[in-house]
Amino acid sequence: MKLKIALLGSTGSIGRQVVTCVERYPERYEIVSLSACSNAALLNEQIKRIKPRVAALENAEKASLIGDIPDGTELVTGENSSLKAVLNDADLVFVAIVGFAGLKCVLKAIEMKKNVALANKETLVAGGEIVTRLAAENGVEMIPVDSEHSAIWQSMYLNKNTSFKRLIITASGGAFRNVPIEELKNLKAAEALKHPNWSMGPKITVDCATMVNKGLEVIEAHWLFNCPYDKIDVLYHPESIVHSLVEYDDGALIAQMGYPSMELPISLALSYPERLAGPPRIDLVGKTLHFDEIDNKRYPCFSLVKDSAKAGGNMPCALSSANEEAVGLYLKDLISFTEIYEYLSYALDKTPLKGADYQTLVETDAAARRLVKERFSNKH
Ligand code: NAD
Ligand code: MG
Repeated sequence: MKLKIALLGSTGSIGRQVVTCVERYPERYEIVSLSACSNAALLNEQIKRIKPRVAALENAEKASLIGDIPDGTELVTGENSSLKAVLNDADLVFVAIVGFAGLKCVLKAIEMKKNVALANKETLVAGGEIVTRLAAENGVEMIPVDSEHSAIWQSMYLNKNTSFKRLIITASGGAFRNVPIEELKNLKAAEALKHPNWSMGPKITVDCATMVNKGLEVIEAHWLFNCPYDKIDVLYHPESIVHSLVEYDDGALIAQMGYPSMELPISLALSYPERLAGPPRIDLVGKTLHFDEIDNKRYPCFSLVKDSAKAGGNMPCALSSANEEAVGLYLKDLISFTEIYEYLSYALDKTPLKGADYQTLVETDAAARRLVKERFSNKH
């Protein structure tokens, strides 16, 4: 029996690598649905090659770019069409959408009692409380795909219930790790997108440079591994070879190492407990590994994300949605790199602390985006 996969966010960096991993083992896997936001040209190619039963395109204006549809494929377009790609006969929903938009898809998958391979970290940052509760109630498994969380899961012998002393998440430091701090404000998005070790989508690559990404990953680890924040440490590790570690009571540190590519975590999320050949391999000969503390002066956003986590409730959602909006402005070169911190800090200050039920999260997401837009239009 093939594993039937609903692939949401198929045109992105993760989505394309899921397709690569699936196509390596056609006897094991079948993609039954695809979804994308606005890259209709690539979705069109994927539809022709994969022939899914459902293909969803959120941006209906781009639908004309989808040519003849194969017999047996249904095209759905418009806002929330990704939800229609969560098919009843899928065995696994792979959520490779970026941002808050992933949350509703994860909730839909859980409601339909589908296991979820979760690349989209913003889902757990905003909705960790409801997602983990509903997943447990519905017997749904949340399979980690983010490389650090996959490394932790692997270092727990693929059993999230393994007891441990501490989690240690590693951080590459992003594109600006060696730039003098006083020069950061002048650096444009094109520079931030040149990540030294990883090739990823634009939003997460900027998040690496600000270290918002590592803050989001601390929150993600908190929910995925039911781990209090004081048992999660972050270490700067510029080589991105040790993807994260678990410390046990006897002092043992178990780590997962590998080539910095998402193919391994994606492949494992599909095949575990088996491991399949295919992802790039690394040769350790001649390599030197470094570990250090995070420089809080260089990465003020990192502390901000952790503050939002400590506040709890809807605050991580506000932080994450304000960040999506601010990074969007930075990617268009409309604000400077260091202004991202100011926008996040502003949005957090203006957000009243509330609970984290779904309706509150939807309102918080919209309000945080509005705050960023308002501040931007007042300043420009
Ligand atoms: P990306 O920007 O390359 O791709 C995003 C995908 O989401 C695209 O297919 C896009 O069409 C789709 N999408 C965007 N908005 C949508 C919406 N409103 N509704 C439906 N679909 C929408 O992003 P990415 O780098 O592939 O990252 C995807 C997720 O995985 C992010 O949450 C990111 O943090 C996480 N992640 C990525 C990497 C990586 O290596 N790229 C590593 C770890 C975690
Ligand atoms: Mg990661």
